[in-house]
Amino acid sequence: MALDTNPSITPYEAPEKELYEIGEMPPLGYVPPKMYAWTIRRERHGEPDKSFQVEVVETPAIDSHEVLVLVMAAGVNYNGIWAGLGVPISPFDGHGAPYHIAGSDASGIVWAVGDKVKNWKVGDEVVIHCNQDDGDDEECNGGDPMYSPTQRIWGYETPDGSFAQFTNVQAQQLLPRPKHLTWEESACYTLTLATAYRMLFGHHPHELKPGQNVLVWGASGGLGSYAIQLINTAGANAIAVISEESKRDFVMNLGAKGVINRKDFKCWGQLPKVNTPEYKEWFAEARKFGKAIWDITGKGVNVDMVFEHPGESTFPISTFVVKRGGMVVICAGTTGFNLTMDARYVWMHQKRIQGSHFAHLKQAAAANRLMCQRRLDPCMSEVFPWAEIPDAHMKMMRNEHKPGNMAVLVQAPRTGLRTFEDVLEAGKGA
Ligand code: NDP
Repeated sequence: MALDTNPSITPYEAPEKELYEIGEMPPLGYVPPKMYAWTIRRERHGEPDKSFQVEVVETPAIDSHEVLVLVMAAGVNYNGIWAGLGVPISPFDGHGAPYHIAGSDASGIVWAVGDKVKNWKVGDEVVIHCNQDDGDDEECNGGDPMYSPTQRIWGYETPDGSFAQFTNVQAQQLLPRPKHLTWEESACYTLTLATAYRMLFGHHPHELKPGQNVLVWGASGGLGSYAIQLINTAGANAIAVISEESKRDFVMNLGAKGVINRKDFKCWGQLPKVNTPEYKEWFAEARKFGKAIWDITGKGVNVDMVFEHPGESTFPISTFVVKRGGMVVICAGTTGFNLTMDARYVWMHQKRIQGSHFAHLKQAAAANRLMCQRRLDPCMSEVFPWAEIPDAHMKMMRNEHKPGNMAVLVQAPRTGLRTFEDVLEAGKGA
């Protein structure tokens, strides 16, 4: 049967085999029965250098609404760390598969399409967003798909993520790849960018407005580096929090209005019991932190929004410094889940605490368009070869990674390649 392929692909010859080495290209659209993958198994739960191992596994089969993508590069996120650790839950408790392939970000080439897929052809160059749902309930049809009871994150709640030669995804997860970026730059941004987009623009009526001020925790990190840039696209001001002076220039160059080094303060961790001497100390320090914000925003000008993800260590301060009627929007608890706050400030000042999780297709697509329009820098910090996927996760877990977002090569034979043709050309020289 003739393949419905992207006509821009130059035909090439390659042998049909059962298994290809990493970086070796199969014939266009030929699906080998086996593939290499970094897998996690329940009995190996632990830090990434223990939990991740390379195995030869079956190439996933697709159903009628799915697409098989040849992964060129993948992104490194905390999802891989949590999946490996089995904390806060083991992915096996959810999907029940014998092994888990992590990886919730990728760039790649459409390799096979299900017979109901209309919008994508074999050979299309894509990035993948990580939200899946079954599409058949009222939230998916007129509501917010992120509220669907079937909502799940690919590569975390599904067993078939991007740290493998092939991945099967729902057709609605595909987005066009920014052609000005390399495969690895394209692979590093979608998860954190789309999450930041929903946090800032997805929670009516607190969508970010021009001129507003946002306190951004972890401003040099994956989420934070996009938060700063998205805040700029909205004409608002990012107050960036860092922990090392070496990160100051990075966040200022991204467009932060001002920077605070959290190491200059001592108000971290759970809130001390109200009206104890410890609380008084905390309160004095919290006011000092608030004053540091005013040094950037102007005396008496509290932030309209706090972009929260460290969780336990910063939440008491976030809820304290946000303005009356403002919003603390939170998508994670990297430092712990037992969030505390002085509730008096929350109700008296009618502050909103809003949970936020990834993004639906419309939000992911809007964020991706900004990347395609070159309005955003992918802020790729480092690229790792296939063999070093666990090392990249170890770095992230220890907060030793460089500012920005990390990527790993899968089928892309080297860094700096921008197209399918580039990959074929580089492969010839291999
Ligand atoms: P990064 O590691 O890239 O950035 C996190 C930043 O947090 C670091 O740069 C660090 O900056 C800061 N940080 C670390 N420790 C502390 C601390 N004790 N107090 C304050 N800040 C701290 O990670 P990501 O931005 O990719 O992800 C952050 C979290 O968000 C993770 O838990 C991840 O799982 C979650 N997440 C959730 C999503 C969702 O959809 N729900 C989607 C994406 C991510 P510095 O040391 O300079 O302050």
